[in-house]
Amino acid sequence: MRTQNVHSQQSVHRHGLYRIPAAARMADEQPAAGLQNPMPQRVRGELRLNEPMSRHVSWRAGGLADRAYLPADLNDLRAFLRSCEPHEPVYFVGLGSNLLVRDGGLRGTVVFTHWALRDVAVESHVEESGKVRVQAGVASPKVARFAAVHDLVGAEFLAGIPGTIGGALAMNAGCYGGETWDIVDSVTTVDRRGELHERTPAHYRVAYRSVARVAQTGGAHPSSGLCDAAAGDEWFVSAVLKLPRGDGAASRSTVKALLAQRIASQPLGEPNAGSVFRNPPGTYAAKLIEACGLKGRSVGGAVISPKHANFIVNTGSARAADIEALIELIQETVKDKFEVHLEREVRIVGEAAWSES
Ligand SMILES: Cc1cc2nc3c(=O)[nH]c(=O)nc-3n(C[C@H](O)[C@H](O)[C@H](O)COP(=O)(O)OP(=O)(O)OC[C@H]3O[C@@H](n4cnc5c(N)ncnc54)[C@H](O)[C@@H]3O)c2cc1C
Repeated sequence: MRTQNVHSQQSVHRHGLYRIPAAARMADEQPAAGLQNPMPQRVRGELRLNEPMSRHVSWRAGGLADRAYLPADLNDLRAFLRSCEPHEPVYFVGLGSNLLVRDGGLRGTVVFTHWALRDVAVESHVEESGKVRVQAGVASPKVARFAAVHDLVGAEFLAGIPGTIGGALAMNAGCYGGETWDIVDSVTTVDRRGELHERTPAHYRVAYRSVARVAQTGGAHPSSGLCDAAAGDEWFVSAVLKLPRGDGAASRSTVKALLAQRIASQPLGEPNAGSVFRNPPGTYAAKLIEACGLKGRSVGGAVISPKHANFIVNTGSARAADIEALIELIQETVKDKFEVHLEREVRIVGEAAWSES
């Protein structure tokens, strides 16, 4: 049923692209016949229907998003969020480097931050430290380079994390001893009404690859006390990073060395999403997977990398279902052999294709 539905929508919007020319954004604009989700009025970005998410995730696999919004700028994003129906699922996506969208696709609207939220600037420079304001869509490696050029240190670890700052905030991304929230001074979020909120790290419970906002009294999630910062009620639009002043040249050498280490140890030539599993306490997921003899195992076009056992690569024809099946196979095998449950680091969203359900 769903597949038919997608195809019939595609025939209305043959290119999956619904670009609104400026002149057409009039109050009396009528949506094209058959459009269930017309472009909201008074927004300036680009709305795409049936957008292939395989183009937007580093695994290069997966289904279509019903709608994808590419905002023109922050104010436009706020206007767009205000225009969304209250029941419409909205999902923010950075560079999709930690994400798998199932083959049946994603119901609701995906917002791509890297399209517009791309500013990075030194906000203040005092004796011992500097503050860098960075919008959520800026690539993390760019921030590492920007900081080093301005003689600010401590952001080098971001150089090897191929996502956006928004994704790094949502995941508390980190490596080589550094974690995103170690360097956060404050963040700005946007909610579904398009309102902005200034927040500090004290508003969040931050742990290894996990970030949850502590709900305020009378807030949206008073019973649980916590809600997932990435899951729905607020999204990151920018952050102020506080970085000590230091030796920019040394920082640039550290970045080079970290990248060389990655090239040597990770299968960067094939589509992947980095480490699939979090490291369990006291050990490494890769070590357990390798000890189970799983390196090189495949399902369809998805293969456990012979170079790094915690990476699954797409050899070209993998479906999201192949990748997910391989993830489950790893979890079952490691559980049987070591009694350890490997928790996923990558996020899986969307629906299975009709043929699998
Ligand atoms: C080769 C490779 C190496 C990697 N190495 C590392 C590593 O060393 N350390 C590490 O931690 N990770 C690593 N990763 C994983 C990934 O790069 C990070 O998790 C990254 O921070 C994700 O950013 P993204 O923009 O791609 O997020 P996406 O994959 O687009 O999204 C990830 C999650 O964040 C949410 N999100 C994205 N933007 C926002 C926002 N603005 N507001 C709220 N939620 C948002 C999404 O909804 C989703 O749930 C690696 C990945 C690859 C492919």
